[in-house]
Amino acid sequence: PVLTSPLHIAVVGGGIGGLAAALATARAGHRVTLVERAARFGEIGAGLQLAPNASLALDELGVLPAVRASAVAPPRLVMMDALTGDEVTSLDLRSSAYTDRFAHPYLVTHRTDLHAALLTACQEHPAVTLRTGHTVAEADQDGSGVHLHFAEGHAPLTADAVVAADGLHSRLRQVLVGDGEPVCSRYVAFRGALPTGKMTGRMSQHAASEAVMVWAGPRMHLVQYPVRRGELYNQVAVFESDHYTPDSDDWGTEAELEERFAGACRAVRDALPLVSRDRRWPLYDRAPISTWVHGRIALLGDAAHPMLQYLAQGACQALEDAVALGQALGRSADPAEAFAAYADRRRERATLIQINARRFGEICHLEGMGATLRNMLLSSRGPEAFDDISWVWTPTPAPAPAL
Ligand code: FAD
Repeated sequence: PVLTSPLHIAVVGGGIGGLAAALATARAGHRVTLVERAARFGEIGAGLQLAPNASLALDELGVLPAVRASAVAPPRLVMMDALTGDEVTSLDLRSSAYTDRFAHPYLVTHRTDLHAALLTACQEHPAVTLRTGHTVAEADQDGSGVHLHFAEGHAPLTADAVVAADGLHSRLRQVLVGDGEPVCSRYVAFRGALPTGKMTGRMSQHAASEAVMVWAGPRMHLVQYPVRRGELYNQVAVFESDHYTPDSDDWGTEAELEERFAGACRAVRDALPLVSRDRRWPLYDRAPISTWVHGRIALLGDAAHPMLQYLAQGACQALEDAVALGQALGRSADPAEAFAAYADRRRERATLIQINARRFGEICHLEGMGATLRNMLLSSRGPEAFDDISWVWTPTPAPAPAL
């Protein structure tokens, strides 16, 4: 669109959400400056599932071909019982039931590959300026704009409006919402992608399948899938620690990981030594909030709706946010109006997914009779039963443009 008075929008944070927001804003005809605190742009070395709502968003941002070039389109999503090793249920992502319902593919990708596709598109867009080594410490706003102040002492940046995509520990959310620290779930993840060639012996069977495998067990689970054209195999082991202590990192340790998975079936125990131990990731979310927009500052991605990863939707929702933001800024060059339209479109849906992510985690980690009932219920569903997940994988349609 050609806007008569394009805005200058600052985006804080160069993760998946921030880069996608910068791209969507520039494609809507505005000028963007994105500031990232890290010295270099990057993502962590693990995988990411992109449900069809995310691949639709990537399509709308013009980067789906670049993402597809290295992503894997898994044939199935499979839930296994981590104790017995039996298949509980699966969804067939190549069935006509899938393609009838979803126009876009289910993809799994290396985070770095998705991040690089978004970064390249931003670098190639003449309206986007990218700055690293800029940590936003404060923001003040008046009727005409927002001034960002940086911890490193750089000159302040003035913009007509700001998109805060600064993640789970968002500084801007802290200032604007003040809802304290993120909520720790007491679960921790060990994760990483390793060259598929290292999956030898019995593990080669795991890597031979392109399916997304979720091994659900009592207070633990393991997720596996290939990424980067099948050259890497991603594994995520998640478990609840009995030793959680706030303000300490001495819980959710490698020893606890081994202990929690000791009773798992052979296939899961075989996989465990190949799960990356480089770093542990305590898992947090926050309670939903009703206000994402504060004057000329709008929250986006994890800064707006940090969620547990059990529905694999955090980044997908950030991508949906970016598309909705771009559409709103394409319709109105009044930041207040555009931000209100963006938040109205996105808040209810993201909140529902945030809440359901917690629930799905509880279902996944059931023990004893609960797990037996879950397995009975889920195993009665066929591989083409998309009814329950369809609302998650289908974004709310954009409102019709005003005539
Ligand atoms: P972030 O990725 O946190 O980016 C924030 C950026 O802001 C960072 O680059 C940071 O350096 C920068 N920043 C922070 N503070 C400042 C500041 N003050 N000034 C300037 N810059 C700043 N989602 C899915 O969709 N599918 C999945 O399969 C999936 N699996 C997951 C598995 C695990 C184990 C976990 C933990 C999460 C998973 N997620 C998944 C969620 C997903 O990773 C996040 O929701 C998503 O990455 C959030 O992106 P973001 O850009 O909003 O935030």
